[in-house]
Amino acid sequence: MNPKDNNVGIISKVSGPLIVAKNMQHVKMYDVVRVSEKRLIGEVIELRGDRASIQVYEETAGIGPGEPVYPTDEPLSVELGPGLIEGIFDGIQRPLNVIYDQSGDLIPLGVDVPRLDRNRIWEFKSVAKVNDEVIGGDVLGTVEETNAVLHKVMVPPHIKGKVTYIYDGEAKIEDVIAKILTDDNQEIELTMIQKWPVRRGRPYRKKLAPSQPMVTGQRVIDTLFPIAKGGIAAIPGPFGSGKTVVQHQLAKWADADIIVYIGCGERGNEMTDVLNEFPRLHDPRTGEALMKRTVLIANTSNMPVAAREASIYTGITIAEYYRDMGYKVAVMADSTSRWAEALREMSGRLEEMPGEEGYPAYLGSRLAEFYERAGYVETLGSKPVAGAITAIGAVSPPGGDTSEPVSQATLRIVKVYWGLSSQLAYRRHFPAIDWLRSYSLYEEDLTEYYDSDVHKDWSKQVQEAKEILQEEAKLEEIVRLVGVDSLEYHDRLILECAQSIREDFLHQIAFDEVDTYTSLNKQYYMLRAILTWYHKSQEALKNNVSFNQLINMKILEQIGRMKYIKEDEFEERSKEIFKQLEEEFISLSGGEDNYA
Ligand code: ADP
Ligand code: MG
Repeated sequence: MNPKDNNVGIISKVSGPLIVAKNMQHVKMYDVVRVSEKRLIGEVIELRGDRASIQVYEETAGIGPGEPVYPTDEPLSVELGPGLIEGIFDGIQRPLNVIYDQSGDLIPLGVDVPRLDRNRIWEFKSVAKVNDEVIGGDVLGTVEETNAVLHKVMVPPHIKGKVTYIYDGEAKIEDVIAKILTDDNQEIELTMIQKWPVRRGRPYRKKLAPSQPMVTGQRVIDTLFPIAKGGIAAIPGPFGSGKTVVQHQLAKWADADIIVYIGCGERGNEMTDVLNEFPRLHDPRTGEALMKRTVLIANTSNMPVAAREASIYTGITIAEYYRDMGYKVAVMADSTSRWAEALREMSGRLEEMPGEEGYPAYLGSRLAEFYERAGYVETLGSKPVAGAITAIGAVSPPGGDTSEPVSQATLRIVKVYWGLSSQLAYRRHFPAIDWLRSYSLYEEDLTEYYDSDVHKDWSKQVQEAKEILQEEAKLEEIVRLVGVDSLEYHDRLILECAQSIREDFLHQIAFDEVDTYTSLNKQYYMLRAILTWYHKSQEALKNNVSFNQLINMKILEQIGRMKYIKEDEFEERSKEIFKQLEEEFISLSGGEDNYA
């Protein structure tokens, strides 16, 4: 590009990551520009006449007024193709692992590393044939991206025509793998790379109603506050309450094919934690590294805030691409509060009218632009399939106070709320999801699935467990005022049952080999054992069995240890437990079974 070119802008002001330039009448909103001779990467985020405000994704120190700004005439985009999986990228998809290998800890300015590896050789297996009529979304061929992910190389959206050439065999991502003759007689050459602007959702045929749970193996989630495949959830909680552990558990165990993990570090070193920890996680499905089906986007603390702002859109665009292949993708953002702070900082520098606590008025709409791209959809292509993006964002309100703007804006959008409580975390009740404050608006959509696929009594049982927990909260008020002795035994049994639901069922240790994951079937029978004991105890009480006998029953210890029974032994062992439960009640009543 020639600096004398009259399309070149001139910097008039530098304010940290924000640069204002004149002579920018030729650029469009969200276009990428290169700033100064250092060619720093920036994005146009405001246009007024010939003046553009540019958010710069690299350190702007040493840049000053009068220096040039080069348009690229392209919006901020990601590259989509084989090589995304196992990648560790920054917020604008620069490959951190590659840059790190080349230049060490500090990312050099204006670095032009390709987003996806140009030199890697893939085995492209053709699916389409010459003379096939194809449309956007149709699969041209496949590539084994990792042993956990079969990458489907698709016709990009909006392209339609007849295949005139198809390749088969070893290829690099820039090699032509297909040619398509469009209806207006143009021959288009396709490679394995697609480019897509991050701030625009990729198209699909239609949205489908959520009807299946995304099973996570986490009991408090699947049983009490389930999320649908294609659903959206928030995990608000103060520092140390377990947001990251929940996100990691979901990444490992949720029945999703692909994980996109967007890390925005909370503490200075937390991003290094993500970079060190996440790649070490094991995939329980394959026994190999979880990275084999993960794309990691990391905002390290030494990166400018602007890249953080872009990162959630970069992440969701990559997720959409895998959704288009018919995969179930889970996107985690940890934490969106750090993202919102980046937005606030940029807004402040733009001298916009600040809203609540300095956040811009468009905080809510920007968050929605992220979450609304989740969903359960029918994909493009002549043989549409169902694909899903489930999005889960952690929110870390300062001091845990969820009345602040980011929590409130998030709450208005998401359908599932897993509220973490610092008191529960302090009492080491993990996951510290507060059963009284949390909710899932998918419960009704999922009733049919749970009741027909797991057990016909599933929803009835869940409803009862929730009522008992709510009853406990009310009774505890009374206990605080007048002491537990003032309660009737009937009510004291409610307290005992609630305690068992909390300790034996909801409490789940992420780091225990067996407890870390519980199938839906096991969840059902664990809860059923607790409630069976409860129902029989209430009956026994009426038949003059003493309260003390009931709460000292031997079976209770076994119920408490059900979580540690391995999945493959569970059916047999739980049958024994239910049998012993019956027998112990019979012996309490003096051999007569009055309470069946
Ligand atoms: P946050 O991200 O909210 O700051 P973390 O996810 O880092 O909090 O959790 C803080 C600590 O709490 C963890 O290091 C761990 O010791 C404990 N913890 C959280 N969740 C669990 C869990 N499900 N099982 C066991 N320990 C947990
Ligand atoms: Mg955390």
